[in-house]
Amino acid sequence: MSDDPFAPAAAAGIHRLAIPTPFAVGRVNVYLIEDEPLTLVDAGPNSGTSFDELQRGLAALGHQLEEIELVILTHQHIDHLGLVGIVASHSGAQVAAIDAAVPFVERYSDESAADDAFALELMLRHGIAEEVVRALRQVTGSFRAWGSKAHVTRPLRDGEAIELRDRRLEVQHRPGHSPSDTVFWDSDRRILIAADHLIKHISSNPLISRPLDGSAERTQALVVYLESLKRTRELPAEIVLSGHGEPITDHVSLIDDRFALHQRRAEKLYRLIAEQPRTGHELAQALWGDVAVTQAFLTLSEVIGHVDLLANAGHVRELEDGEVVRYEATSDTQADELGDLIPGGNPVLSRG
Ligand SMILES: [Zn+2]
Repeated sequence: MSDDPFAPAAAAGIHRLAIPTPFAVGRVNVYLIEDEPLTLVDAGPNSGTSFDELQRGLAALGHQLEEIELVILTHQHIDHLGLVGIVASHSGAQVAAIDAAVPFVERYSDESAADDAFALELMLRHGIAEEVVRALRQVTGSFRAWGSKAHVTRPLRDGEAIELRDRRLEVQHRPGHSPSDTVFWDSDRRILIAADHLIKHISSNPLISRPLDGSAERTQALVVYLESLKRTRELPAEIVLSGHGEPITDHVSLIDDRFALHQRRAEKLYRLIAEQPRTGHELAQALWGDVAVTQAFLTLSEVIGHVDLLANAGHVRELEDGEVVRYEATSDTQADELGDLIPGGNPVLSRG
């Protein structure tokens, strides 16, 4: 047999196409499911290069874009959804997405503008300087064209199944990395299409997001994400197909590693907060230096997610300081005495 890590999925009729993106993450995995209907999972970002490569990839598998009958969207991020509308208009394919994602996908440009405004306010509140926020906003604005709206003809409900001729994909909503993350579970083949919910070579960023139901209160993205990971850990999957990088064949140990990573990171942040009250941005700088400026929203999301774990366990509280919020420790507990910050996360939590 071949050394191609994607060979087992291909044998099950699921073919990986690695489509280029302009983002630091590199290529995005789009999957062609050779079944009836002929199905594409995600489509790649909205660019001519990506569109060309998608068509070339399909041709190499003996198919044409026009044959695609169904596009399934895994979540709302632009490296996955940008080409969905174009693929659908060229092929006449149905577009399926979790119901929670529908308003975002259909009103992409208004929704992403609202996301930018939400991110701006959050960054200012957590101590990022106004001129930095303004500069970052221009970068984000220039990225917006890599996304595009699409009409969702088939809204999916959590728990329902997509029936193809040869397989059944159970739809499971797994919010955290984004509020619309959805995984597709083939229990017969024990294959999970997980997209960015679980990635082998990088921990999925639980990005702080505007709630999809329009409410103003932010969700605790990391807390939500860890709950979603616990559910995925229960699945007897043999192959997990991700949105970036190679398939995962040991998802339970990978998830356990991630629980341990988040526990350690929360302890590290607690140590910094216990030294002196700090803003989210100061904490991000202490952990990641200049990356906290160039990747301000991402690193801030990481910090706030872990501070949520600490705050939920009663170890940290918010301190309003004018326009800005700082975090302070609530007691003189030591970082190594915090205990399990991810309740029920992992029965054998390793502190390696
Ligand atoms: Zn994503």
